[in-house]
Amino acid sequence: MSMQQSYEKILEAVGEDLERPGLKDTPIRAARAFSYLTSGYAKSLEEVTNDAVFPSDNREMVLVKNIEFYSLCEHHLLPFYGRVHIGYLPEGKVLGLSKFARITEMFARRLQIQENLTQEIALAVEQVTGARGVAVVIDSAHMCMMMRGVGKQNSTTRTVSFVGEFKAHTEARREFLSAVPESY
Ligand SMILES: [Zn+2]
Repeated sequence: MSMQQSYEKILEAVGEDLERPGLKDTPIRAARAFSYLTSGYAKSLEEVTNDAVFPSDNREMVLVKNIEFYSLCEHHLLPFYGRVHIGYLPEGKVLGLSKFARITEMFARRLQIQENLTQEIALAVEQVTGARGVAVVIDSAHMCMMMRGVGKQNSTTRTVSFVGEFKAHTEARREFLSAVPESY
């Protein structure tokens, strides 16, 4: 069954009339939208970073802040969205700045939970850059908390992932976290 036919079934299941003009193209539009929102499955790390790794002697922390993202929770297929902040400690190589956004997109455009999204981004940056350490913070709002369930409109969730030197060094963690204010 195609995704379009599946959306027809869902609309029928909620009691809708597929013949009414407003819904005429909804199943195909919904299928296209859902395909776009999950297009990260078709991407690979090699493809999105596209060799944009450059030699550098800078060993100080590089911090890319406020990368906005939209994802879908794997439990309810409802959106969660917010900001990603990525810090890393280079070891001879740096990654082109736009690639942090592309890595974020690749993992966010899949069915996710925020905890795993955070870790997947951190490990991907480590893999691509060979950094001494990587730190990722995500602040996010979850529609499955807001539109349903407990109905909490103002709660946000922060997750962190530390890799390499950030794990062991309290000082590096503190420097990173103090540079990343509450962002959602
Ligand atoms: Zn959910």
